[in-house]
Amino acid sequence: MEQLLNLIDGELRSAVGGTSLDVYAPATGQVYAQLPDSDDRDVHAATEAAHRAFPAWNALGREGRSAAMLRLAQLIEDDLEGFAQDESRDNGKPLALARRVDIPRAIANLRFFATAILHFPSEAHLMDDVAVNYTDRQPIGVVGCISPWNLPLYLFTWKIAPALAAGNCVVAKPSEVTPLTAFRMSRLCKAAGIPPGVLNIVHGLGPKVGAAITAHPCIPAISFTGGTRTGAEIARVAAPMFKKLSLELGGKNPVLVFADCDFEEMLDTTVRSSFTNQGQICLCGSRILVERSIHTRFRDAFVERVKALRVGDPNAAESDLGAVVSHGHMEKVLGCIELARSEGGTVLCGGERVMLDGALKDGWYIAPTVIEGLGPQCRTNQEEIFGPVVTLQPFDTEADALALANATSYGLASVVWTRDVQRTHRVARALQAGIVWVNCWMVRDLRTPFGGVKQSGVGREGGVDALRFFTEAKNVCIKL
Ligand code: NDP
Repeated sequence: MEQLLNLIDGELRSAVGGTSLDVYAPATGQVYAQLPDSDDRDVHAATEAAHRAFPAWNALGREGRSAAMLRLAQLIEDDLEGFAQDESRDNGKPLALARRVDIPRAIANLRFFATAILHFPSEAHLMDDVAVNYTDRQPIGVVGCISPWNLPLYLFTWKIAPALAAGNCVVAKPSEVTPLTAFRMSRLCKAAGIPPGVLNIVHGLGPKVGAAITAHPCIPAISFTGGTRTGAEIARVAAPMFKKLSLELGGKNPVLVFADCDFEEMLDTTVRSSFTNQGQICLCGSRILVERSIHTRFRDAFVERVKALRVGDPNAAESDLGAVVSHGHMEKVLGCIELARSEGGTVLCGGERVMLDGALKDGWYIAPTVIEGLGPQCRTNQEEIFGPVVTLQPFDTEADALALANATSYGLASVVWTRDVQRTHRVARALQAGIVWVNCWMVRDLRTPFGGVKQSGVGREGGVDALRFFTEAKNVCIKL
């Protein structure tokens, strides 16, 4: 049984309280590791270490910090296969996906921000003969980063990389459900030359460790990715303390399919945007809206393609979907499917747990599920499911499509399929979403602003937005 440890002040340590939590492999439903069940004492030790480390890390300058982060990225790349196997085992996702997307993207995050900081400009504003202003962007000090289980190392590094590059020290909490790759990375920090206390990783439960980070008076900024309800709780605690907050929350993303689209390309991509990572990506399209003239053609072709997807061993190259992340999450998703049935929805395919054999017999697998016959206001079309479940709704006009697309309290991502350039602009402007993909999905340029509107979040990550979040701007005005 593997024993995971916290990284605090450059040391790998057990929780102060001495207790542990079980870590499960979703593919088998079995416990395979123990995780420190940390609490506010561990968070406090991490925060103190981070404060001690901050002056020297900041003084190292952009180039020194960048070099250490690039070494860390290289060490992860040298061990890509080990990281990918851990990510797949811990999360249940297909190994091929972890190899192709999760770990390369975690490496890219570190490299991107390690080099972005070298080019991060400061502005100057000249007031004719009166004065010159310049903007001095200084690191905040110690920041908190809290990340979810769906893309464990990918989203963990997406937060810690800009924080570290900007000169901050970090107290980070990966999801308790998927701690393995953050732990694997913590073992590389010393060799990468990240000084003790610069990056602290405290494992444990959200209501204990996450809440202690959020409430700690010496952590003035929190970057959080996770569910909307947790985000609201973090905002409730952090707002009266005037903490800087970045919240990347849930979604109920629409896919708008117009009759003039490239049908085959749309079909291929919509299968992926629905079921990649078992539908557990905040950017997955979960409500597919189809122009009525092609609705039947789309439904038949889509259901045929979805039925052909193989749910199976995450290690098998032929598996399209692996396991969902936890027993509790499986129960939640199956409950959502039951709710859809009780609301009058018709399950066109899937709709049940998949039972595999042998070592996988207790794993948490769900058949990819397509549901139709539900209106926009029912709970199934309003609430985030975050699993391999999509709904279909027909529309008649562009205005109908937009009304359906915008008819939820979320606004993270959206996808539009059309070959009409004028419509592209109209629809993209009218969609209430932080991200609009047109004729594609999950094409990511790390320089672009990333985030949601409405209940999908507050603030933007990515590129200069992340570096601005992790710094405080000071205007210095000098009389000429
Ligand atoms: P949660 O909100 O349950 O958890 C996210 C993180 O917050 C975990 O590390 C969790 O710890 C921690 N946490 C839980 N309670 C608290 C608390 N009271 N105070 C501080 N931290 C806490 O989300 P999930 O992990 O279930 O992730 C799925 C959600 O994340 C979905 O809603 C999804 O849409 C969203 N998401 C959003 C993205 C975006 O970019 N907008 C990207 C990816 C996911 P623990 O695991 O121990 O509970």
